[in-house]
Amino acid sequence: MAGIYFHVPFCRKKCTYCDFHFSTTFSGYRTALLDLMWLEFNQRLNEINEPIETIYFGGGSPGLLTPNELEMLLKEPFRTAGNQLKELTIEANPEDITQANLIAWRSLGINRISLGIQSLNEDILLWMNRNHSVEQSLSALSLIEAHGFSLSIDLIYGIPNQQLNDILSVIQLVDQYQIEHLSAYALTREPNTALDQWITQGKIPDIEDQLQTEHYYQIQLELNSRGFEQYEISNYCKNNKIAIHNSNYWLGKPYIGIGPGAHSFDGVCTRRWNVSNNQRYLKQQQWFEIEYLSDKNIWNECWLTGLRTIYGVSFNKIKLLGGLTEEEEKTLNEFIKEGLLKKVNNHYILKDTGWLYADRLASELFRI
Ligand code: SF4
Repeated sequence: MAGIYFHVPFCRKKCTYCDFHFSTTFSGYRTALLDLMWLEFNQRLNEINEPIETIYFGGGSPGLLTPNELEMLLKEPFRTAGNQLKELTIEANPEDITQANLIAWRSLGINRISLGIQSLNEDILLWMNRNHSVEQSLSALSLIEAHGFSLSIDLIYGIPNQQLNDILSVIQLVDQYQIEHLSAYALTREPNTALDQWITQGKIPDIEDQLQTEHYYQIQLELNSRGFEQYEISNYCKNNKIAIHNSNYWLGKPYIGIGPGAHSFDGVCTRRWNVSNNQRYLKQQQWFEIEYLSDKNIWNECWLTGLRTIYGVSFNKIKLLGGLTEEEEKTLNEFIKEGLLKKVNNHYILKDTGWLYADRLASELFRI
């Protein structure tokens, strides 16, 4: 099963921590760029060799597209997917949620909304330069609920000086609204962001590992007690409402990414990157790169993605990739002895205690 990702590279404002690809000045070329995304999809139809299971609008801010723009982009993917399509997600911010948009999105077949709540503290929202208030978030949740979408919310933790109560207030939303999926992301210092500059200039304290670890475990505890299962380092769901599109990335399934900055993977060994630059994408000159993964790359990715999830890494896959060396087996046994990893149904899977160390553990198994 394959997925389609549309990267909509426009935002109303620049959040202080964000390093995704987007532009805030796009009115002059908005239509031309969306037309090219339509063209890109149609030109790459031959890359889809499996039924399309998911479509995902990410960004940037796809919530600012008009229903007509979304319809134009969706028409061909819909025709190609037919009745195999299970999940059609749009990332949205609270300010995008209006009665009119929700009615239009429903009629376009969108069945899942990933809502960027991030915080319910006005000061933190201001500090993050978000474009919405707490009130807008709450009213967005009520509206979405009334329209019956499957709903996921995002939360950011580990912000310098952030109180645990700020985080708990977001988590408590799952008690009040029909929210069956939550993504909790640690604030990260990315180069060329306002956050990075402020820390470099000493205007704010640096991000503290200890605070992030405390918040991480508290979130895990709170969500577990509410019947949520952690199925990836940053993702929790209940009633088995996993994000199918994102899970397919971690399971190594194929997807094609359309638009500036979008990535694609053929499910075997070929990755493609579209240029993260709207003007170069518009010119369509040297606007993407292709990389063929070596055996070592495939091995490393298998551990890097597998250990982040409850799916883990299967013995079968390890065998297909040539099996473990003696040294690697020893490393895995040490992780098991340390209580970080377990063997379940012929899979290596991290224990709750090991999630936070997934990247470090994977890197110890890398082949260089
Ligand atoms: S709205 Fe989303 S993509 Fe746009 S700047 Fe903020 S975090 Fe980044």
